[in-house]
Amino acid sequence: MYLHGTSQINSKGHLEIGGVDTMDITKEYGTPVFVYDVELIRRRARGFKKAFETEGMQYQVAYASKAFSCIAMVQLADELGLSLDVVSGGEMLTAKRAGFPMERVHLHGNNKSLEEIQMALDLDVGCFVVDNFHELDMLKEQTEKTKKSPHVLIRTTPGIEAHTHEYISTGQEDSKFGFDLTSGQADEAIKRLKDHPYLQLKGIHCHIGSQIFDTNGFSMAIEKLFSQIIRWKEELDFEPEVLNAGGGFGIRYVEGDEPLLPEEYVTSLIHTVKEQSAMHGLKIPEIWIEPGRAMTGDAGTTLYKIGSQKNIPGVRRYAAVDGGMTDNIRPALYHAEYEGVLANRANDKAEDTFAIAGKCCESGDMLIWDLPLPEIAEDDVLAVFCTGAYGYAMANNYNRFSRPPVVFAENGSVQLVIKKESYEDLLRNDLPLRSAERV
Ligand SMILES: *Cc1c(COP(=O)(O)O)cnc(C)c1O
Repeated sequence: MYLHGTSQINSKGHLEIGGVDTMDITKEYGTPVFVYDVELIRRRARGFKKAFETEGMQYQVAYASKAFSCIAMVQLADELGLSLDVVSGGEMLTAKRAGFPMERVHLHGNNKSLEEIQMALDLDVGCFVVDNFHELDMLKEQTEKTKKSPHVLIRTTPGIEAHTHEYISTGQEDSKFGFDLTSGQADEAIKRLKDHPYLQLKGIHCHIGSQIFDTNGFSMAIEKLFSQIIRWKEELDFEPEVLNAGGGFGIRYVEGDEPLLPEEYVTSLIHTVKEQSAMHGLKIPEIWIEPGRAMTGDAGTTLYKIGSQKNIPGVRRYAAVDGGMTDNIRPALYHAEYEGVLANRANDKAEDTFAIAGKCCESGDMLIWDLPLPEIAEDDVLAVFCTGAYGYAMANNYNRFSRPPVVFAENGSVQLVIKKESYEDLLRNDLPLRSAERV
C-alpha cells in the first residue's frame, strides 16, 4: 500500500490524513466524504515553483481549477502564489468570490460564449487564451466596445500525440482545441491580433495531454513551437514573451505509475526552452505552466462505507459502497484505476480480491475491479486514494444522489469546505407540471 503525503496509519490501525483520524472524519461528516491533505497540495505547489526560482526564470504556475474548484481551494491557490486557469463563467465567479486577484486568472475554453467573454472583461480577467477565430472576433468587438485591454495567448495544437510512453509527431493534430500550427491558422491569428489597439498579444500556448510520465512530449512540443517562432519573428515580426506549456503532469494512482516530481518536469522544460532560445538567438520567454491533476490529485482521498456484498463463486466478489460514479466517474469514463484500503483496519492483511461497486443503477458503476482486502464487514470504511482531481469536479446527481461534502485536513484539524448537498438542494430548480395544481 502506498500512502501519499501526510497519510499514515495510527496506533489504532486507522488511516490518518493531515494528522486527523479518518474515523473521526466519518463520524462527523458521514460517508462518502472527500478529504484533502492540504500539506500535500502546498508541497506540490512549492515543487512546481522551486525549479523556476532556482533557474531564475520569469514564470507563472497556474492551477488548472477544473481539476477541483471551490472557494476554499481557490483561496489556497492564492495563498500559495499560484495563478488560476478557469474555463467557464462558474469557475470565474468562484475565483471572484474567493477574492482571487483577477489579473492572475487565465480564461480557457474552445467555445467561450459572448456572456462569458463579457463577464471576463467585466471582472478584469488578466489573460484570455484564445482558441479560435469565432472567439477572436467576439473578443475584438467587445474590447473595442469596453476599451479593456487584456493579455492574450494563442492556443496552438503542435501535433504531438502521446502513445503511452512514446510520442509521435503527427504534424497536424486532430483536436477540437486551438489553432493548427502547420496549416497557417496560427499565423492568421497572430496577424489579426498583433497590432490590435486593445488586445495585448503576449505569447503562445499548447497543452499536449494528461497524466504524462516523462519529459519527452513536452520537449518535442517546445521544439516544434520554436521552429515556428523563428519563422514568426522573420515573417510576422512576432516574438512571444510568454510560452505556456500547459498541464498534464502525471501522478501516481496505482502501483506501476511512475511520475516525475513537479520540479523534475519543470527543470526539463526550462532547459529545453533555454537551449532552443540560445540556439535560435531569441530572448528567453517567460514560461507558464498549468498543472491541475498534479496539484490536487494525490492530495484527495474518498471515504466510503461498505454495504452489501455479492459473492459469485469462481467469478468475483462484489462489495458495494455508498457512493460510486456520482462522486468518481473516472473508472466508468476512462477505465481509470485506483487503489484503496480499509481505513478502519488499515493494518489487516488482505485475504481476497474484491470488486468495488457503486450504488447507481448502472452495471458500469464500478470504482475498482480488483482490490485486495481483508475479509470485509458491513460498516467497514473504504478509503480510495488519489481522488483529488476530476473527482468532486466531475461529480453529478445521477439517480438523484447528492454530492458528498469535502473537508480539508491539516495539522490535526479538519475544515468543511463544501457542504453535503441536501435533498432540498436537489429539488431546488424543479417546477411542478402546470396542469397539476395539487399544491
Ligand atoms: C485540462 C487542462 C489542464 C490541466 O491538465 P492536468 O492533466 O490536470 O494537469 C491544463 N491546461 C489545459 C489547457 C487543460 O485543458
